[in-house]
Parts: sequence; C-alpha cells; structure tokens
Amino acid sequence: MDTEVKLEALAADARFDVCGWTGIPVSSPSPMRFIHRAALPGGGCVSLFKVLLTNVCINDCVYCVNQVARDKPRYSFQPDELAKVFMELHRKRLVQGLFLTSGIGTNPSRTMEQMIKTVEILRHRYEFSGYIHLKMLPGASFDCIEAGCRLANRVSVNIEAPTVQHLARLSTRKDLYQGILEPMQWVKRLKAKDESLVPSGQTTQFVVGAAGETDRDILRTTEALYHDISLRRAYFSAFHPIPGTRLEEARPTPPRRENRLYQADWLLRVYGFPYQEVELALGDRGNLSLSQNPKLVIARKQPWLFPVDINKASYEELLRVPGIGPTSAQRIVQARKEHSIYALSQLRKMRVVVKQAAPYIWFQGMLTWEREKQLSFLPELEEETEPEPTLAGAVG
Ligand code: SF4
Repeated sequence: MDTEVKLEALAADARFDVCGWTGIPVSSPSPMRFIHRAALPGGGCVSLFKVLLTNVCINDCVYCVNQVARDKPRYSFQPDELAKVFMELHRKRLVQGLFLTSGIGTNPSRTMEQMIKTVEILRHRYEFSGYIHLKMLPGASFDCIEAGCRLANRVSVNIEAPTVQHLARLSTRKDLYQGILEPMQWVKRLKAKDESLVPSGQTTQFVVGAAGETDRDILRTTEALYHDISLRRAYFSAFHPIPGTRLEEARPTPPRRENRLYQADWLLRVYGFPYQEVELALGDRGNLSLSQNPKLVIARKQPWLFPVDINKASYEELLRVPGIGPTSAQRIVQARKEHSIYALSQLRKMRVVVKQAAPYIWFQGMLTWEREKQLSFLPELEEETEPEPTLAGAVG
C-alpha cells in the first residue's frame, strides 16, 4: 500500500480530534494539510502532525467517520512506517510535534501497543525529544496507559458525552466509568507518583450536541474532571453529521454553541469562577445563550456587585467586570500602585474593552465615554468585544 495514500486518508480522518485550532485548511496542498497549529502555554504555537494509526474501528459511535458499519476504505500504518513519515516532515521543518490518535483496530490494548511502539521508535531510534500528544484509547489496559505516560508530553482520553445515559446514545460499546474515567484516574495517579510524567497533563474532548445533552450537563462534568482528575483542559467539538452514519440526517450543532462552551470553560479554568457562578449563565433549559457571552449574562444576574470602583476593587472583583480579563485586571492592580485611574482612555491602554466595561465600573472623577470622545482623549473606536477565548491557551 502506497504510504502517500494512507497518509491522505489517515490525516483527513484525524481532523475530528481537536488539539488546538486548525490553522491550515483541509483543502491545502499536501503535506500542509496534515499540519495543525496548537498554542503553547507560555505563548507562541507549535505545528503538529495529526494522524490516525488506523481508521479501522470495531466501535459503533454514531457520529464518527470511522464507525464499524461505515462503508469506506480502511488503512493502517505500521509503527516503523508512521515514525519514518513523521521524521521526514520533521526534518523538512514542516512539523515540530506529533498528535497520534487511532480507531480501535482489534481491541483497545492491541492498537495502543502499536501506537506506543510508534512513539518508542521516535523517542529511541530517532531520538526525537519534541512534543507528542498521545490519544489513549478507551478500554486500554493499565500497562498501555502507563507506557504511554512515560513517552508522551500530553495524553488524552476522549469522554465524548457527559453522562452514562448520553454516552449510551452515542455508542453501544463505550463504558464511561471503566473505559474512560478509570484510565483518566490512572493517569492522575501515575502523575502523582512521578511529576515528570506527561508534563503537559491530560485533556479530553466532548462531541457537542450529538447526544441531546445540555450545556449544564457538559459544564458539570467538565468541572468534576477539573476537580477530580486534575484535567488540564477540555475541548468541545460541535457535532457535524457525516454521510453514512446513523446521525447523517441530524442537525449540526451551531459553531456558536461550541464557542460559548469555550467561554464558560474559560471562566472556570482561567478566571477561577466557582461552578455555581458559571451556572448563572445557563438559561431555563440548561443552555448558554447563543447571543450573549456567558460573562455578560452572569454580570447582569448579579447587579448588586456593580459598579466596581476601579481604584479600590480587588483583582477578583475586577475580573467579574465584562470587558476586563486576567491580563487587564493585573495591569489595573499594578498601575494603581503608582497612580490613580481617572479616565476610560487609561483603561483602554490596559487592554480593557471599555465599551463593555463602562456600565459596570466607577472611579472618582470618571468621565463618560462620550465626554472623553468630545475631549478627543480617544480616537473613534471600531466596534469591540471582549476578546473571545479560542482553542488557544495550551498546547494540543
Ligand atoms: S472509538 Fe468511536 S469515535 Fe473512536 S474511531 Fe472508533 S467509532 Fe470513531
């Protein structure tokens, strides 16, 4: 079998696993279409070669391009072959790291052994010391999980759905507790024993909207995973129907829903809002508003917290103001040590989205937005919104 043919198929099928934002469109010419961009925790980003070891799968996940019943050509890489392909891309400086995932060929542990062998060849034969994100297959043995943790920078087990009931709608073969949560716990325990393992931590991914779950279901489980498993982060992937699957006629999930989940997750994970506060963003049916960002909804439901005094508010109080994020809150706290703040134009320089923040803040001598413009302190501004979190923030 021609390696190029396998590469085309197995890289294309890997696009459903999220590991960061896809900077390169799928229609780009080969080999660029195999490359995905992921953000680094300390800034900057890395180019990852994202690929499946095999698109053969014994599972029947109803949304998946590789489910067993789907009539399509099936391919598999040999570990040697895949390691060689990666090293060629790496030597050409097209990629800096690998994201290796897979269908479940015969059984989870056997396929994982092949994935681990691939990574061992990279680490030992080719002495590749760069970034590797290894997908752990649901149902794989403890030995496989441990071996993967010893080789990879980051590992992940995809949870796909937030509860047993929702997962049962997606797959007859996946077991939330034994197949998914138990391996996550193993990773946590291994890391607790040896801190040097999986330095970029473990992540997971939800398919959003395929199982009729609400945003509350997803956020509750996400919060529990942050708390109980020390999950580094969750990814959310809006469901898209795929021809030839049981859900081919189902309606796609609006990308805006995925984006709102990232924003709510950002409040939990980066802003440190307690879950009970993030829940305020949910409507009667347990979903986030598609038209308003969750932080704005939360602020409107807690009017007694505002306006906050910019010159006196704590960092946590500042963080609750729409238009003020962690960076701008820190800048405000820092600037106050040297001088007081008296104008919106000062806040704008600290990266505050003043159009959003103005109704929620107050300071001595504060000039209104309109007055500042009249006095020409500020240039005419284009429409602004609080910077929206993207998949950036941690490497795939
Ligand atoms: S386990 Fe499910 S989601 Fe993963 S490749 Fe197989 S069918 Fe697709």
